[in-house]
Amino acid sequence: MPQQDNEGQDTHGVSLATRHVMQANRSKNTKPELLVRQKLREAGLTGYRLHWKKAAGKPDVCFPGRKVAVFVNGCYWHRCPHCALPMPKTNVEFWSQKFERNRSRDERDQRELLASGWKVLVVWECRLKGDRLDATAGDLVREVQGARERDGARLVELGVTPPWKLAVRRKGLKTSAKRRHR
Ligand SMILES: [Zn+2]
Repeated sequence: MPQQDNEGQDTHGVSLATRHVMQANRSKNTKPELLVRQKLREAGLTGYRLHWKKAAGKPDVCFPGRKVAVFVNGCYWHRCPHCALPMPKTNVEFWSQKFERNRSRDERDQRELLASGWKVLVVWECRLKGDRLDATAGDLVREVQGARERDGARLVELGVTPPWKLAVRRKGLKTSAKRRHR
């Protein structure tokens, strides 16, 4: 029985790895990507370019005129901070290096875009699922519509807690810390 379990685990690890090796280079026209494009079209935001070669990292969707790039990240391959999905069980070294390379490539591309005045929108696959979809799509449309010269270079993650909520929480923490020290 234990042998079978080990075998099962190995098979699982390998097949998972193999499945995701297909996504080693940012795969195109994935389901989450199609969903993002659909939401943009529904809001009348057409005229976007797909995987535009002239923008760093060939963003999944971009609006060259507005200087907005949208990256739709698969949670597994891009190592989503919300999902923290398990690593493959075999060839751990190989996979962690690959993931790391992927992550630093994402960062490099985004830095490059920001440096040339682009607004970078990042949307994780899981933020498009279930009842999160509407809020994320709302963020997406708002950010694209609001992207004009005055907006400037910014990196925004879509479908997460709004900044004002975080600010309130941070303020609360500060106050309580102060109280404790006094
Ligand atoms: Zn995720």
